[in-house]
Amino acid sequence: MTESTDNPLLQPWQTPYGLPPFERIRPEHYGPAFEHAMRAHRAHVDAIAESSEPPTFDNTIAAFDRCGGELGRVERLFFNLAASETSPALQAVEREMSPRLASHYSAIHLHATLFARIEQLFQRREELPLAPEQLRLVERIHLDFVREGARLPAAARTRYAAIVERLAELTTRFSQNVLADESSYRLVLRNERDLAGLPEDLRAAARAAAQERGEADAWVITLSRSLIVPFLTFSDRRDLREQAFNAWIHRGEHDGEHDNRPLAREILKLRNEQARSHGYRHYADYALVDRMAGTPDAVAGLLKQVWEPAKARAAVERDALRAMALAHGAEHAIEPWDWRYYAEKVRKARHRVDDAVLKPFFSLERMLAAAFDTAHRLFGLRFIERPDIRAYHADVRIFEVRGRDDRMVGIFLSDNYARPNKRGGAWMSAYRWQSRVDGETLPIVVNNNNFAKGPAGEPTLLSADDVRTLFHEFGHGLHGLLSQVTYERLSGTHVLRDFVELPSQLFEHWAFEPAVLKRHALHHGTNEPLPDELIGRLKEARRFNQGFETVEYTACALVDMALHALPDADGVDITAFERAELERIGMPREIVLRHRLPHFGHLFASSGYAAGYYVYMWAEVLDADGYDAFVEAGNPFDPEVADRLLRYVYSSGGTLPPAEAYRSFRGRDPRVEPLLAQRGLADIRQPA
Ligand SMILES: [Zn+2]
Repeated sequence: MTESTDNPLLQPWQTPYGLPPFERIRPEHYGPAFEHAMRAHRAHVDAIAESSEPPTFDNTIAAFDRCGGELGRVERLFFNLAASETSPALQAVEREMSPRLASHYSAIHLHATLFARIEQLFQRREELPLAPEQLRLVERIHLDFVREGARLPAAARTRYAAIVERLAELTTRFSQNVLADESSYRLVLRNERDLAGLPEDLRAAARAAAQERGEADAWVITLSRSLIVPFLTFSDRRDLREQAFNAWIHRGEHDGEHDNRPLAREILKLRNEQARSHGYRHYADYALVDRMAGTPDAVAGLLKQVWEPAKARAAVERDALRAMALAHGAEHAIEPWDWRYYAEKVRKARHRVDDAVLKPFFSLERMLAAAFDTAHRLFGLRFIERPDIRAYHADVRIFEVRGRDDRMVGIFLSDNYARPNKRGGAWMSAYRWQSRVDGETLPIVVNNNNFAKGPAGEPTLLSADDVRTLFHEFGHGLHGLLSQVTYERLSGTHVLRDFVELPSQLFEHWAFEPAVLKRHALHHGTNEPLPDELIGRLKEARRFNQGFETVEYTACALVDMALHALPDADGVDITAFERAELERIGMPREIVLRHRLPHFGHLFASSGYAAGYYVYMWAEVLDADGYDAFVEAGNPFDPEVADRLLRYVYSSGGTLPPAEAYRSFRGRDPRVEPLLAQRGLADIRQPA
């Protein structure tokens, strides 16, 4: 077996903290490593299934939880790099391996003898001498098997496995197509006339993007959020705004090899078939069973409370934009490519908060320090940089994380800059999850952002929005780092999808807490703190444009739920469906979906957020209400509240039912009012 002796993916990693030996791994190592690890995993599973002993928690559930460690290690490394630092070679491996892996896991979930043992234990779970976490693990594994088709009649299983495999293929292509459209587009600006209105830092970022793409003497706007959104906000050139905006909203919607419409159509049809084979009316019912919300009705109930007030608020905002446009001599109606531009002018005039004034106080370095310090004040963590260790790219920073008593907690990788070969958006992931089955296994967690890197020798400056994103992902990161559970399957962010955004969204609150800003928002040149007056104005401005933001988001959540609630999804034309649905819900004509269906990666690049885009709003009910616990205590770092938060939310992973976890932290069930107040939707007549 030469493959395992000279393939670094299959050897023990004798590296600091057991980090992957990034520099030794080449794309051609993955295929053989995946094949080897899948075979080993399958052999372990067969051994568990064929045991002559009667099933017990240890010989079946715990044994199943433990096997496949090698495969998991290769998979996490591969999929992290495929997102953060991909290449044509890795993309080819991804296209080949995604369906193979899906088919491998599908075969395991459809393993009849193994499932018979799991089913037996599940039926007897209340009589077995199980610790609460063990009971959760039995239920989790059992539900995973059921949802992957283990209870289907034998005849239906082959078809089910084929669906799972085909879905993996389609979703991989979907996200690669979006990346292709994003990286191929460039709006080239050649002179001062093209640059009109753009602030210095955006010019610098566009300059760097041009250099990266070999455009001499020019500035380039790409479809990366960190460039396109500020461009739409500041460019005085209405014609260029319109042009860039249209490219942005039509990603994935071009005839030819990168067209996502046929992929989405087939994905929807297959999901529908999947749901119906389980006896559900449609995919939304099937998806919601494994969520805190439980049913599409519960989701609809929440979204309904938000949608009408958000539209009313957006109409008030639009009128203010129209007045501002008129004041600038523009007679035209507000079009989608005008919204951000005039909103910025209204914001400046009304709240006198200007990103150009704020940004020098929000250097990436300072804001990262602010996030670390917040984790220190709440949970006693310290982050010690290890510049001597190199990750997969020179810009990725590695930190050792220590807790109270100097105890090692885990490793944190911070990957902050946009690159052409990096997926858009921001996300948290892990190279290793915390567990205790093989002694204490410490987590290796990564945060990815897509900030435009500052020019050489100058700091990277963040917008207020970027700061919020940084804290959001760091909240997910803490959820992974602080995990204190036994089993990997229940570790860190392995919680229900509509609970997973609680630790991240909650953490955003500290980003704009005056106590944090005063200490960390220091001017990068002068070290002056952000003036109190600006802190106050920042706080007031938080509700600004929330009508737009809420409409842009909630419409996506409504379209997602409607699409996945189609009882017959065969041949659905996603563009026509989107148009009709927006008409039906009364989408304001000046606002476009935050993610249009042809590039809606949450729905089509994997199945995790299908019938699940609502989860951010669901979790916002919890984060708004949850942060109030600190407000009520009169201290944003109140030690008792922080301890409960650590115990029941950040460290408990999936070991507690989410509603119970929240109740234990908060002392009661969540209320929706703080969310409405936070978004300025409680009383829409108030100016925002
Ligand atoms: Zn998140």
